Amino acid sequence: MENNITFIDLGLEPALIRAIYNMGFQQPTEVQTEVVPIALGSSDLIVQAQTGTGKTAAFGIPMMEKLSPTEKNVQALVLTPTRELAVQVAAELSELGRYKGLRAIPVYGGGQSVEAQKKVLSQRIHIIVGTPGRILDHVRKANIDFAYLRILVLDEADEMLNLGLIEEVRALLDTLPSARQTMMFSATLSNAVEEIAKQYTVSPRHVYITPQRLIAKNIAQWCFLTEERNKESLLLDLLGKTEPKSALIFCQTRRKVEQVVRFLKEAGLNALGLRGDLPQKQRLETLQRFKNGECKLLIATDVAARGLDIKRVALVVNYDMPQYPENYVHRIGRTGRANNAGTAIVFCTEQEFEYLKKIEEYIGQSVQRKDVSGGTYSDILLQNTGPADCLAMDVDQREQAACEITRLFIGAGRKHKLRAGDIVGAITGQTGISGEMIGVIEIYDTYSFVDILENEGDRVLEKLQNGLIKGRRVKVSKAKNGDC
Ligand code: ADP
Ligand code: MG
Repeated sequence: MENNITFIDLGLEPALIRAIYNMGFQQPTEVQTEVVPIALGSSDLIVQAQTGTGKTAAFGIPMMEKLSPTEKNVQALVLTPTRELAVQVAAELSELGRYKGLRAIPVYGGGQSVEAQKKVLSQRIHIIVGTPGRILDHVRKANIDFAYLRILVLDEADEMLNLGLIEEVRALLDTLPSARQTMMFSATLSNAVEEIAKQYTVSPRHVYITPQRLIAKNIAQWCFLTEERNKESLLLDLLGKTEPKSALIFCQTRRKVEQVVRFLKEAGLNALGLRGDLPQKQRLETLQRFKNGECKLLIATDVAARGLDIKRVALVVNYDMPQYPENYVHRIGRTGRANNAGTAIVFCTEQEFEYLKKIEEYIGQSVQRKDVSGGTYSDILLQNTGPADCLAMDVDQREQAACEITRLFIGAGRKHKLRAGDIVGAITGQTGISGEMIGVIEIYDTYSFVDILENEGDRVLEKLQNGLIKGRRVKVSKAKNGDC
């Protein structure tokens, strides 16, 4: 949503405004506009906003405004699930704090010894950003004193409060002063997470930016129906035909990452692997080489799924299905950041069809399927609405292309147990047009949208207005501009 609020309207001090403009931010994003004024007060906050919408600065800006450069003790702590994210967030916070003289440092396990970190920690540091395990270590060894901590942030809060990390997080949070402001941020929050969040926040204010729609509009999504044994040739074909400026390819296991790196290299492509078991130095260097464009293909486990902000990731491929539907949101959220165009493709085998539906239910959107079994990828990729063209278009061009699409409003949704399959069934059954003409389907609580491609919209509208969906008469009309 457009707003005309400026950073100056937010009442920030000049040193901070200067840093913000220096970073190239001209206007606050929606989540920043909502969160900054609340965070400048003392309320705790739980925030959900899509990937790539500027959540880091949403907590970073009020944090910089409130912290004092002359204070000797650590005043703020930001917890992240991965070391790479800790490094990135610390860098962004230091940028924001530059002219005010505020310093953020990353603290994480692996690579850096506790002793070396102890030295750094003895200097004046205003903000610590890190993974919970290593920070807890330092607290127990009395290398860090959080007695004067004023602000605690959990970035990727649902991941931090998830099974893998919750014990360390609990142990650490129990050592922190209770008179503090606590803020939690993620693109995905569940009721279960909010229950836990309640224990560590006091009357939190909630900010949900378009929680109905988890995936940003600027990410085009496709599903390639394929077989396990065809995945390698499919990936090669996809990369060869679309030539993405850079692509991030997610695999489920470390072994699979290695396997994919190997066959891509054998095919003459320059690919790097990022896995949690590599030495930390190598992990950071690999990421750096991908970030600076030296290497265009990064093959990774979910260690790269959360929070990483890498410019120019044009394509995300789910080579393997993500283990949880949330991971799908985070993985594909590595593209289409800060309103850039992005393309996401998920490879799906027959055994995974049902799971794909779960993902679609979770994101409240259908993912357009392309049958690529049999290896005839070229025909599909050359179609007008294929990923190749998507990758070549920027957001404006995509919007123009979307003009040939008619968006229909359907007056039934999740509460009426309506599923994407019901809409497809009603359209193909009653109008005779093929499933290929049906674009994105989005299902909300009480209504839904469906895109009809190539000017077939009027015909479909007429039939559906007089027909039935799931055996019921349902209101169907053209979606109004601004509905979607
Ligand atoms: P999120 O945490 O919501 O996934 P990030 O905080 O990583 O998103 O920000 C995504 C990108 O948007 C980053 O490259 C960041 O520098 C940029 N960004 C953040 N705020 C603004 C803004 N106000 N104007 C322009 N770009 C911004
Ligand atoms: Mg983030």
